[in-house]
Amino acid sequence: MFESLSDRLSGVFDKLKKRGALSEADISAAMREVRVALLEADVALPVVKDFIAKVSEKSIGHAILKSVTPGQQVIKIVHDELIAMLGSGEDEADSPGGFGGQTLPLLGVPPVPVLMVGLQGSGKTTSTAKIAKRLSEKDHKRVLMASLDTRRPAAQEQLRVLGEQIGIKTLPVIEGQMAVDIARRAMEAARLQGFDVVMLDTAGRMHVDDDLMREVIAVRDQVKPVETLLVADALTGQDAVSVARSFDERLGITGVVLSRMDGDGRGGAALSMRAITGKPIRLIGTGEKPDALEAFHPSRIAGRILGMGDVVSLVERAAETIEADDAERMAAKMRKGQFDLDDLRSQLRQMKKMGGMKGLMSMLPGMGKLTKGAPKLDDKVLGRQEAIICAMTPKERRDTRVLNASRKRRIAAGAGVSVQDVNKLLKMHQQMSGMMKKMSKMGKKGGLPSLPG
Ligand code: GDP
Repeated sequence: MFESLSDRLSGVFDKLKKRGALSEADISAAMREVRVALLEADVALPVVKDFIAKVSEKSIGHAILKSVTPGQQVIKIVHDELIAMLGSGEDEADSPGGFGGQTLPLLGVPPVPVLMVGLQGSGKTTSTAKIAKRLSEKDHKRVLMASLDTRRPAAQEQLRVLGEQIGIKTLPVIEGQMAVDIARRAMEAARLQGFDVVMLDTAGRMHVDDDLMREVIAVRDQVKPVETLLVADALTGQDAVSVARSFDERLGITGVVLSRMDGDGRGGAALSMRAITGKPIRLIGTGEKPDALEAFHPSRIAGRILGMGDVVSLVERAAETIEADDAERMAAKMRKGQFDLDDLRSQLRQMKKMGGMKGLMSMLPGMGKLTKGAPKLDDKVLGRQEAIICAMTPKERRDTRVLNASRKRRIAAGAGVSVQDVNKLLKMHQQMSGMMKKMSKMGKKGGLPSLPG
């Protein structure tokens, strides 16, 4: 997500940070580069213009230019404006006054209907299932899904199969029934059977057309949804934004789900969506699997774009993946400065579970850039390192000092790698345990070093 934009911006800001004092001309030059970076990221022109105007105005103030770290201050201003552009109010979704950390603000008497709309192929059915799963697992809602797509014979079957995979009920299909009637039946069934939420997956088309709109409007008027979510494909860039705008004009949407953010290095759709449509991005799709759905937090996204990392999301993902006991055991060992190869192996496994090196690194402050020049840190390497550790005896894993040349040769042969690879792993382990000892000392002195920004 946002890799190319992030690279461009970090180039601009590295130059700013290096200079002690900044002049107006320096800021203007930097803003010209930011403007090009945003346009290349496919952000809509009016949005770019507005953004640059706001950042320039705030940056050229005397207080900023005369401050000790003008470069940092400008980055902070860009960061805050990015958040505003992405929809600053949405971070409050996590607060008790917002929708309290729930996936969607589903106000109303259950069963509440959620209408999913969008073009064909946008990821509507997949997103419907992902949201249903999240509502069920994270928010503890009882969810019923129904496909209103009567034109594509496979559509209803697709939703049923997805539902079975993720353990979410779907409304049984009655051949020949119209969309409006299916919607009414879904609501009735949900009422009788005590469901909290009904997810209605409507039919898509190749383009926004009158036929499609009439059908969706009829369904809307029938069920009166509490949320009407437009699913748009992030990879289509500005087209996604104009699709959202026309759906909103004709139907009224409450929010946007941006699918395929995993493949979008530019981010134009995400960056322009709020400013152009005025509608919040509620969720983003980050892969094909039913779990690949994330809440959209403008401040975290802005942090990721500016290479400040998204430590909050990282910690959340870690909490979901790592067993609590495991984490505690590991922490205790780290505090004592004991970190053997068994521990390294379980860390490698956890990394794989958490989405591999690439995904993790992009969330760490400053890491996006670092890993760029280090293609060695890919997920294949994780697997190879794990194989090396597996080829060792328990004793060797606990104490690497016993590893003489002949043992290393045996291990290399067992793991199908070279002795050099074994040495590299040992060196990495040594560095890691060194780092951990240092960190545990720092922790005692009071906290980790602060993050930039
Ligand atoms: P629909 O026609 O709008 O219902 O689209 P589908 O839900 O059938 O999705 C079309 C294709 O996009 C499927 O192959 C999905 O697996 C894929 N897809 C959906 N969301 C995402 C996403 O967030 N990331 C990726 N990589 N693929 C996705």
